[in-house]
Amino acid sequence: EAAALSRIGLAGLAVMGQNLALNVADKGFPISVYNRTASKVDETVARAAEEGNLPLHGHYNPREFVLSIARPRSVVILVKAGAPVDQTIAALSEFLEPGDAIVDGGNEWYENTERRQREAAERGLLYLGMGVSGGEEGARRGPSLMPGGSHQAYLHIEEILKKVAAQVEDGPCVTFVGPGGAGNFVKMVHNGIEYGDMQLISEAYDVLKTVGGLSNRELAEIFAEWNRGELESFLIEITSDIFLVQDDYSDAELVDKILDKTGMKGTGKWTVQQAAELSVAAPTIAASLDCRFLSGLKEERESAAAVLAHAGLELNTGGRRAVDKKQLIDDVRQALYASKICSYAQGMNLLRAKSEERGWNLDLGELARIWKGGCIIRARFLDRIKKAYERNRGLANLVVDSEFAGEMAQRQGAWRRVVGLAVEAGITTPGMCASLAYFDTYRRARLPANLVQAQRDLFGAHTYERLDRPGSFHTEWTKLA
Ligand code: NAP
Repeated sequence: EAAALSRIGLAGLAVMGQNLALNVADKGFPISVYNRTASKVDETVARAAEEGNLPLHGHYNPREFVLSIARPRSVVILVKAGAPVDQTIAALSEFLEPGDAIVDGGNEWYENTERRQREAAERGLLYLGMGVSGGEEGARRGPSLMPGGSHQAYLHIEEILKKVAAQVEDGPCVTFVGPGGAGNFVKMVHNGIEYGDMQLISEAYDVLKTVGGLSNRELAEIFAEWNRGELESFLIEITSDIFLVQDDYSDAELVDKILDKTGMKGTGKWTVQQAAELSVAAPTIAASLDCRFLSGLKEERESAAAVLAHAGLELNTGGRRAVDKKQLIDDVRQALYASKICSYAQGMNLLRAKSEERGWNLDLGELARIWKGGCIIRARFLDRIKKAYERNRGLANLVVDSEFAGEMAQRQGAWRRVVGLAVEAGITTPGMCASLAYFDTYRRARLPANLVQAQRDLFGAHTYERLDRPGSFHTEWTKLA
């Protein structure tokens, strides 16, 4: 009966959907839920009852589910990205009516969202592609939400999203990102930045452990201490916790028993592909992706280590030379921070390039703000990024913001020492090296690109420009030489 209609619906009750649905209900919005496999509906309904009789209603077929939602309807979909989203939309849209809205909360490729927006529009349906970050905890307690597409669809659920999202001192972690697939694109770059952060942290760990000889207990303390300063962030905090967890099968800490092979689902790869498409340098994020590829070659790496050790090449960490532990720890902290700024600069510039290409009018400062809470990359320094873009909306690069420039200058000595030590020891800090190379390339007024231009002109008559006069020039190089 009409009185029982829900304010919103959610289809897809795996980890993310189940927790987001409970979050919505917890904020007092009656919600209908549905999942292809019935057992997940039962699970969700049971959890809603356990957690205090939350206003959540389970449905076992698409028709009943859709009809249980008040019009104009908003239906959030949280299923596996790709074909499952199309199949879910097909199942639901039979019962949806003009003016109703579909909200895909998955990690979807933005062009799929734009296609579905067009298809939905043909049936009079509105569409949002909404990035949801924060994993299971975030979905339940307050995620960072990045909705993009139909502004009308956004307005219809704005009050819900603002209550459900993580709350920080300057508001809920949600904003209407922009039209089209902007929400999914921003979430994709968020994930790319997340790859960079995780890689850089793993390198800091490697240097401290392999060069500095620190124990897991010491590492836990150092990361906990770092989490009280400029590096304060979710990823630094959980890293500290990880070092203390004991293994169930031995006397060691669990971290030392985990296979060094990284999984991935594709958003990092998409970020790097998009950076290349748009001619935006994103070397730190690319290095993180490359490291995941190389980590996958566990067997090859083991045999390479054996072959090269046999040939006389081993890690040069023996004796740990004259490394002052306290200095090393402080240097690594600074190297991590400086590398991180460069990684965020790359991600932000990728977002800006896409925004210009698509006319999305993305507000980079506002994006930094909604990442301050709820999501995996949440960090104290995102507030500083937000302020940098508030000072100058057209800021060409984070590293030339007056405050960040000063910090880079202060930290460059430590940064170079850490990268130098790592290179000398033969351990890899590809993310830190990539960030440093990005910084050093970007800040140089003159690069050796003049020689590349000369070569291109010599072998391909590609012409070159001159420093001292306008126009394009070609030289018959070989005749002159
Ligand atoms: P998931 O493992 O990606 O997907 C499982 C869900 O998809 C189940 O509800 C499943 O239904 C449904 N599904 C799969 N194929 C289907 C089909 N052909 N038709 C209808 N339903 C189908 O779930 P998740 O981890 O909760 O993630 C959901 C989305 O959020 C994904 O896009 C994911 O990338 C994104 N995301 C995940 C996280 C995270 O931490 N896990 C964080 C942010 C974003 P059945 O139960 O019937 O199989």
